[in-house]
Amino acid sequence: MTVWGAAAVEAAAGGAAGRGAAAGGGRLHVGPRDVVTPLARERARDLGVEIVVGSAVPAATPSPTAAPRPGAAVARQGPAGRARPGYSTAAPGPPARDGAGRSGTSAPAPGLPPRAGTSRPGAAAATPGRSLRPPSGALYRRGAPLPTFVRGGGRTGRVAVVGAGNVGTIAGLRLVEADVFDEVVLVDVDEGRAAGIALDLAHTAALAGFTTGVRGVGTVEAAGPADYVVITAGRPRQPGMSRNDLIGTNAAIVGDVAERVAATSPHAVLVVVTNPLDEMTQHAWVRSGFPASRVLGMAGVLDTARFQSLTALTGVGRADAISAWALGSHGEEMVIPLSQAAVDGRPLGDVLPDDRLRAAVDRTRGSGAEVVGLLAKGSAFLAPGLSAARMVLAMAADTGAVMPAAVLADGAYGISDVYVGLPVRLGRSGVREIVVLDLLPDELAALRAAADRIRERLGQLAAAS
Ligand code: NAD
Repeated sequence: MTVWGAAAVEAAAGGAAGRGAAAGGGRLHVGPRDVVTPLARERARDLGVEIVVGSAVPAATPSPTAAPRPGAAVARQGPAGRARPGYSTAAPGPPARDGAGRSGTSAPAPGLPPRAGTSRPGAAAATPGRSLRPPSGALYRRGAPLPTFVRGGGRTGRVAVVGAGNVGTIAGLRLVEADVFDEVVLVDVDEGRAAGIALDLAHTAALAGFTTGVRGVGTVEAAGPADYVVITAGRPRQPGMSRNDLIGTNAAIVGDVAERVAATSPHAVLVVVTNPLDEMTQHAWVRSGFPASRVLGMAGVLDTARFQSLTALTGVGRADAISAWALGSHGEEMVIPLSQAAVDGRPLGDVLPDDRLRAAVDRTRGSGAEVVGLLAKGSAFLAPGLSAARMVLAMAADTGAVMPAAVLADGAYGISDVYVGLPVRLGRSGVREIVVLDLLPDELAALRAAADRIRERLGQLAAAS
């Protein structure tokens, strides 16, 4: 199976032969099991390229007037023609080094995109020396309407970041810099903000060295079908507020966004960031109608990173040499099982006195509020934005990285039917499995108590709506 990206379509439009395919003459011949990315379909529509699906790809570049081969079907362009790029149904691979710094096998580190230059499906037209054309010329016309799309070279897939506020901006920045997607689209009810941030991000292409396209739009529908959708839309807390104070306001926003995403991107993976995180993730799962494996929440990666950095301040080692897990809820019921915490493979309890360890845990739990108090307006966004992007990149890389995430508990740890922070193995299409750690009885009890509190708050949300 080959995944065809926008670059292959452009090669077909320009007559250049794509890698292993007959491209040119306004037609792109693809195999019946091949995948054509949503962006490639859009580009095909823009450029008038016909995507011809057949059992075999002609060896030579066809003439511009060549008819499709007998038996070939022509893929119709449009929303119904959406394809998913290379979603794997393979059995889970070996564990990789996880998001919390825990080592597994020698698989690539999670969250790291394939190296530049790696041969990737859809990279057909990214031939060195080939002249690059702007997608529509719009970016190159003075006074052209914005937002504008900047063409990606041989990238596959689209990420939509809904909510182009502080967190969405940083997530978007990291996602475009990773240079692994066709396109990153920022969506915000404040369309001008989304467009402005998108243009600002596009201006960093030469500085950061990426070719991922960037757009900013006002609706989920205008973003087009996406493979991953990060939901950051909603109110952040202000000094004196708890995350749970946001529940009513943000449930309305997240529920609406989840329904729209389900209609526009029925095969997407949702990464929820909006607070209160665990409750909003479950809410998005219910409202999207997606399988639970495709709806997960970002909190554990951030909370773990906070613990790692705060523990490093004690001088025991670099932050990235510390491994730990932040589980449970994204709030008061956060659980950091110290039995699982280590530095360079040594148990943290062997190198730090108990009171200092407990202080690091407590400060981690209160880190969000600490930042809110210092900012006096809005909440943390740098580490949260990077954490959300890291999860998306880990899924896209499909290395089987294990990270903490808010997921629907399936009986593991004695918890069922509620979203709570647990270690999970990620794959291209979301959660592959919940990973079970060997927790101490009090750690396990704390995890179950966190799940109970989340369940209670969800009950209150249901009663109020
Ligand atoms: P922000 O106010 O800077 O941005 C929120 C954006 O959402 C705004 O630009 C707003 O216009 C937009 N928006 C509102 N309704 C929308 C809708 N229906 N569709 C599209 N866009 C919409 O806030 P922020 O700092 O980026 O935080 C965003 C959310 O993330 C907050 O709920 C915050 O509490 C949460 N957060 C979560 C974590 C975590 O670890 N899970 C960490 C930090 C922040």
